[in-house]
Amino acid sequence: MREPRWEYLQPADREELFAAMAQMTEDSVFLAGGTDLLCEIREAKIKIDRIVSLGLLKEFSGIRLEGDGIRIGSMATHGEIAADPSVRRYLRALAEACAHVGSKQIRNKGTIGGNLMNASPAGDMIPCFFLLHGKAEILSSDGTTRFAEAGEFYRGGGAPAMERNEVLAAVHFPVVPERDSFFVKLGSRTEVTIAQISACMSAKKKDGMFEDVEFYLGSVDRTPLPVPEAAAILGGSLGTVEERNRLSELLSKRIQEIQAKRKRPPRLKIRESERHYKERAVKGVVYDLLDGFDRP
Ligand SMILES: Cc1cc2nc3c(=O)[nH]c(=O)nc-3n(C[C@H](O)[C@H](O)[C@H](O)COP(=O)(O)OP(=O)(O)OC[C@H]3O[C@@H](n4cnc5c(N)ncnc54)[C@H](O)[C@@H]3O)c2cc1C
Repeated sequence: MREPRWEYLQPADREELFAAMAQMTEDSVFLAGGTDLLCEIREAKIKIDRIVSLGLLKEFSGIRLEGDGIRIGSMATHGEIAADPSVRRYLRALAEACAHVGSKQIRNKGTIGGNLMNASPAGDMIPCFFLLHGKAEILSSDGTTRFAEAGEFYRGGGAPAMERNEVLAAVHFPVVPERDSFFVKLGSRTEVTIAQISACMSAKKKDGMFEDVEFYLGSVDRTPLPVPEAAAILGGSLGTVEERNRLSELLSKRIQEIQAKRKRPPRLKIRESERHYKERAVKGVVYDLLDGFDRP
């Protein structure tokens, strides 16, 4: 019989998890829903000696109101998050993002933890994690827990800043009842599509007018792009055509600047049509986002 290519561990509680973590090397991986990891394994992109499944750990699952916020276990799937009444009510951008991840099959398996850890520039959870002031709950194999805000979590501009003896247990979001939020993405298809551009916004609304606007663009840079100017353009306004156009022009310029700075390997040379796609398409995204925000 052929030797298995890797050891598979499935801890069911903290004690077993810490014992499994103690055996992990730089070639060992955690397994959540597997929707990213299994593609990498199949394409032989990574070398693996040990897989530690997080599927049996109760404290990593579930979504609950806790104190002034919502705790979402790292193993909560996109489908569970999109359907959760508290998330839909208080974290609408995240519910929208989860509702449009991949296909039904991907939403049933893919998790918020896997999405944040995989750290793809096109990952739909990541702009929402920044926008909604999420905090990662990180458990260490010595039993201690630390919390990291989005900026700290992605401080290297790529993979999450976590040690080998750490695992993402949950994500916490504050509940601010007077704020609403929304997320949209533009892809090449309406289903099973990876974002070419995504945008999300959070604001208060008073007498139909926006206040305290926060805005992020996703999938245009390595990590979500904050757009602080949106607060001045949309603040105290109804999101008129003129304001939407001003915001789109600004975003278009920011995208041009990012693309001009980006160094690509020659084999990834992009076509002229692709080069100008995002800076033009962002206008439609702004319109979709503000229209969505207005829907109950
Ligand atoms: C057809 C298809 C369509 C897709 N569509 C989208 C889309 O529309 N939007 C989008 O954002 N993504 C999409 N994805 C990507 C993927 O589904 C998501 O990123 C998903 O959330 C990954 O979660 P997972 O549970 O499957 O992670 P896994 O594949 O299990 O893990 C991903 C990585 O994170 C690590 N990891 C997982 N959980 C933890 C943890 N708790 N602590 C530490 N490390 C951990 C793993 O070791 C691995 O390196 C798509 C993928 C496919 C195959």
